[in-house]
Amino acid sequence: MAAPDEKALRAEMCLWARSMFERGLTPGSSGNLSARLADGYLVTPTGSCLGFLEPERLSKLDMDGRHVGGDAPTKEVPLHLAFYKARPEAGGVVHLHSTYATALSCLADIDPANALIPITPYAIMQVGAVPVLPYAPPGSADLAAPVAEAAKGAAAVLLANHGPVVSAKTFRGAVMAAEELEETAKLILLTRDMKVRQLSPAAVAELQKRFK
Ligand code: ZN
Repeated sequence: MAAPDEKALRAEMCLWARSMFERGLTPGSSGNLSARLADGYLVTPTGSCLGFLEPERLSKLDMDGRHVGGDAPTKEVPLHLAFYKARPEAGGVVHLHSTYATALSCLADIDPANALIPITPYAIMQVGAVPVLPYAPPGSADLAAPVAEAAKGAAAVLLANHGPVVSAKTFRGAVMAAEELEETAKLILLTRDMKVRQLSPAAVAELQKRFK
């Protein structure tokens, strides 16, 4: 895939960041976003509120993750780089503290191999399996290594008691997948104490083939 135009990507990142902020998906100064460029990465600045980003102030990193332009980058850069290194096809990474996915990440009895029980098709097609990684303090080196390992086999992970990190081939695709993950987490929590009809293993297998 041809690398996206940097100016257009800066504008696109700020537009989606603002939209997610306005819809309550990333309150306060939570959440951080990134996109891959031909010569490095664009990342949201540390301490920034995603509702009020400015395109020219987004942090630019070189191919090795060194800060080369814009404001200082988020402290969660290692999470993003772990995905880009493990998944050469990844073009964007979205990390949110969105309410329902984060609530799901706090459950003690969740399946660590996949937080999403198969109740609707879309998350299976858009996000795939979502492993849950053990809790580590935000920004710590202990977080990046498990993410790097899990990202080899999964496009998205849930950091226990913290929130989701979601990658996709494009920045926009990562936003869509993060939103799908959030909505599915909401459905799982809404129906948690009800008798739920799960999708059959055959139906799940068919949907998994559609996940690219
Ligand atoms: Zn975080």
